Amino acid sequence: MHYKRILLKLSGEALMGNRQYGIDPQRLAEYAEEIKSVVEKGIELAIVIGGGNIFRGVAGASRGMDRVQGDHMGMLATVINGLALQSALEDADIQTRLQSAIKINEVAEPFIRRKAIRHLEKGRVVIFGGGTGNPYFTTDSAAVLRAIEIHADVILKGTRVDGIYTADPEKNKEATKFDFITFEDVIKKGLKVMDTTAFTLSQENELPIIVFDMNKPGNLLKVVTGEKVGTKVNL
Ligand code: UDP
Repeated sequence: MHYKRILLKLSGEALMGNRQYGIDPQRLAEYAEEIKSVVEKGIELAIVIGGGNIFRGVAGASRGMDRVQGDHMGMLATVINGLALQSALEDADIQTRLQSAIKINEVAEPFIRRKAIRHLEKGRVVIFGGGTGNPYFTTDSAAVLRAIEIHADVILKGTRVDGIYTADPEKNKEATKFDFITFEDVIKKGLKVMDTTAFTLSQENELPIIVFDMNKPGNLLKVVTGEKVGTKVNL
């Protein structure tokens, strides 16, 4: 296997499927199968889940809500998604643990780095909910942070686009895809991979990022086995 321990970042929106908000159980079940195919190969997998399908702090703030209050709602939304994902994974007979950055002990373990690593070593999928536990951050930042903390080999950003393009491929038909790109070039060309805080944290810690289409069956396993899928951002 190309990678031994990976961190998969899934946005909340990815869980919506074709809906306008909330969670699509069909999509969750499909993701669970994708994840299972990787776990069965003995790869250690941690997941950071977003919350954008339920609530975003910035959206609340734009309508006059206190930003911190909104961010707390957003972080709780990620815990809701984490519980849904955990349930879907368990339905697929995958052992899981949900750890939350915000203490919510009746529903999830608190985030304890050593415990998370131990779960991974035992073959359990660890879902990290609650983002970083701090307002003004995103779950992309949480994904990079947790990946560094657990010594993941790579961070996989599962999206609905199959990589990083010269321009937005959904708007510009001329856009072409990169197979590889450096952190520096992403910044120079003004491309959008993650928010700046998350991206520079990854760069500073020499943690490669692979952006790939999570909705294409078999893709996750291909990425993990080192097949040329998506775009890899490296030093
Ligand atoms: N959030 C936060 N701190 C974090 C992570 C998330 O305050 O460390 C809040 C923030 O309001 C954010 C929301 O949770 O808008 C949902 O996360 P995000 O927007 O990253 O979800 P995604 O876009 O991946 O679905």
